[in-house]
Amino acid sequence: MSGKVYLVGAGPGDFKLLTLKALDCIKEAEVLVYDRLANAEYLNLARPTAERIYVGKASSDHTMTQDEINEVLAVKAKEGKVVTRLKGGDPYVFGRGGEEGEYLLERDIPFEVVPGITSAIGGLCYAGIPITHRDYTPSFHVITGHLKDETKDRINWSALASMQGTLVFLMGLSNLNKICTHLMQNGLAASTPAAVINWATRANQKVATGTLMTIEEEVKNAGLTSPSLIVVGEVVNLRDKLNFFEKRPLFGKNIMVTRSRTQSSDLKAKLQDLGANVFEIPTIEIVPREASLIDATLNCLEDYTYVVFGSQNAVSLFFERLYAIGKDARALGNMKVVAVGSATAKSLEGYGIRPDFMPERFTQESIAELLERQLTKEDQVLMPQGSLARDILATCLEPICQVESLLMYDTVLNEGSKVLLKEILETQTLDYITFTSSSTAKNLMALLDEEQKEKLKDIKCVSIGEVTSKTMKALGLEVYKEATPFTIDGLIQCLCEA
Ligand code: SAH
Repeated sequence: MSGKVYLVGAGPGDFKLLTLKALDCIKEAEVLVYDRLANAEYLNLARPTAERIYVGKASSDHTMTQDEINEVLAVKAKEGKVVTRLKGGDPYVFGRGGEEGEYLLERDIPFEVVPGITSAIGGLCYAGIPITHRDYTPSFHVITGHLKDETKDRINWSALASMQGTLVFLMGLSNLNKICTHLMQNGLAASTPAAVINWATRANQKVATGTLMTIEEEVKNAGLTSPSLIVVGEVVNLRDKLNFFEKRPLFGKNIMVTRSRTQSSDLKAKLQDLGANVFEIPTIEIVPREASLIDATLNCLEDYTYVVFGSQNAVSLFFERLYAIGKDARALGNMKVVAVGSATAKSLEGYGIRPDFMPERFTQESIAELLERQLTKEDQVLMPQGSLARDILATCLEPICQVESLLMYDTVLNEGSKVLLKEILETQTLDYITFTSSSTAKNLMALLDEEQKEKLKDIKCVSIGEVTSKTMKALGLEVYKEATPFTIDGLIQCLCEA
C-alpha cells in the first residue's frame, strides 16, 4: 500500500512563521525531505525516529537534481510511509511544488499541498516593506530572476516597467545588474527605489537599499549573498518607518547561551523574540541518580516538615519519581515548600504547588536567613537538589534541626558539544556569552582548548549573578555585566541595556 506525501510550505525562515497544518505534517512524518531554505529547527519537532533526508539546493555540493528529489518522494511513499517535503516559503511560488505533484499523480501516490508564507511577501514585511500600499502601487509582481536565456525567459520587461506595481525578483542576486538594466532600458526611472533582502525573516537578516542605479554597489558594500530578494518600487521608501523587525533591542546580536539542555530553551526563546541570533551550547548534561534510592525517601515524605527544592531539574525529577510510585502533589500537603530561585518556584507552580515563601532575593544565603527565623528543633528539612548544589543552606540550618540532602542528579560535562563549539567559534563573530550558573562557566572552559579560550577574550561575558561572576573570574573570564535581579529575566534585561 502506498503512503502519502505532503508538500509543505515551511515559510520564509523565522521559526514561528509556520502554519498549524504544516506543524501537523512535520509531526506525522516518517520521512522528512528538506532543503536549505526551510528552517532546520523544524526537524526538532519531528518524531525522533523519522528519517531526515537533506536534498540541498543551488550552490551546495550535496544537491540532488529535481528528478532525484521526485524519485526519493515516490520511493519512500511506495514503501507505505508518510513523507513530508518541507519547502522554503510556499511550495507553488518558484518551489517546483507543481512538478512534484504531477510526478506523484502519475504514479498514483496520494499527496496534499500545504501553502506557506512566501518570502516574496513575508520577507518584505520583515524588512519593513509592505508589498502593496494604496498611495504607491496598484499591484505586485513576483518574477524569477533566474535569467537563463534571454530569448526563452518570456519576461515582458516593458510591461513590468510600465505597470507601477511593486516588483519582487526571486533567485536573482547574480543577475542584479541585468535586472536593473532591463528595467531602466524599458522606461523605469533610474531613481526608482530598490532593496535587496538577504536571509529575510532570520536573525541574520541584512538589507541594502538604494535605487535602480545604485543598488548593485550597495549590495556589494554590504556583502550580501544568496538567498536574497530584490524589491523594486516606491514601497521600499516605507522601510524606515515600518521596520519593526530590525528595531527589536537585540536584533543582529550573536549570543552564545550556555546552559543545560533541559533548561535553556526558555532563555533562548526569549532572546530570539528580542531579535538575537542565538547559539545554544549544552555544556552540561543532567544524569538522574538511581531511582530506587530516591523512591525510598519519597515513600516516607511524612517524616519531613519542610522541603527545599534546589533547582528546576530537582523539581522535575522529584515529581517524575513521585508519579512513578503512584503518588502526587498531595504527598507534600503537610510540608512547607521552599524554592531556591524564581525559576524553581515557577516549575513548582507547574505541578500545582505555590512555594510558601517567596524571598526578595533568591540566593541560598537569603533563604537561609528566612528559614532560620522559622525553624525549630522539631523540624526536619528535605533538600532535593543536584550533586553540585552549594551547601551553604544546609550548613546554616543544621545547627537548628535535622537537614537531609536528597541527591536527584549529577551534572556532567557534555563532551558532544566540542564540535559545535569549534564550529561556532571559527565561523561566527559572537557579541555575548551568557552564564547562568557557576557550573556552566566551569564546563564551558573545560570544553575549550587554550586557543579557543584566548578567543573568548574578545567576547563580552554576562553573568546571572554574583556567585557565577566569582567563578567566572576565578576561571580567568572577564565579567562584562552582572544581572540584577539574579534571574533569567534579569539577565535578559542586562543584555538589552548593554
Ligand atoms: N518557495 C519559495 C521560493 C523558492 S525560490 C518562497 O515562496 O519563498 C528560492 C529563492 O527564494 C531564493 O533564491 C531567494 O530569492 C528567495 N528566498 C527564499 N527564502 C528567502 C529568504 N529567507 N531570504 C531571502 N530570499 C529568500
